[in-house]
Amino acid sequence: MSSEDLLSMEKINALPHPLMIREFRSDPWWPLIDIDVQTGMHRIDVCGLSQVKEISSCAQIMDDRGNIHDMEIFFTDYDKCDTCHGRGEVYSGQDQHFHYFDFQPPEPIMDVCPECGGHSGDYK
Ligand SMILES: [Zn+2]
Repeated sequence: MSSEDLLSMEKINALPHPLMIREFRSDPWWPLIDIDVQTGMHRIDVCGLSQVKEISSCAQIMDDRGNIHDMEIFFTDYDKCDTCHGRGEVYSGQDQHFHYFDFQPPEPIMDVCPECGGHSGDYK
């Protein structure tokens, strides 16, 4: 994955194709023809005519199984959640001590990241 890419090709390719895309949650779905992960420019099939669109105006993608995904999760910087730095979990401030294994360092107790709900860690 190039760090200059706006979108994660890996995540988009992981979906069952073909994909549908829509601009607003209330919009009809349009078939996604192709997408440039570097710029986010993509083409949709609007009643047989291909239309070029910017990804920033898109709200959701639907995969071939009918699962709907918010567009924001496909952005490469979505992984870099400020709170958990993409790990999906944060240190709770407490450690778990295993009394039988005193010679081992305590295990840090992790909480699901409150910022991204742990989604940053989904694709690791
Ligand atoms: Zn997070």
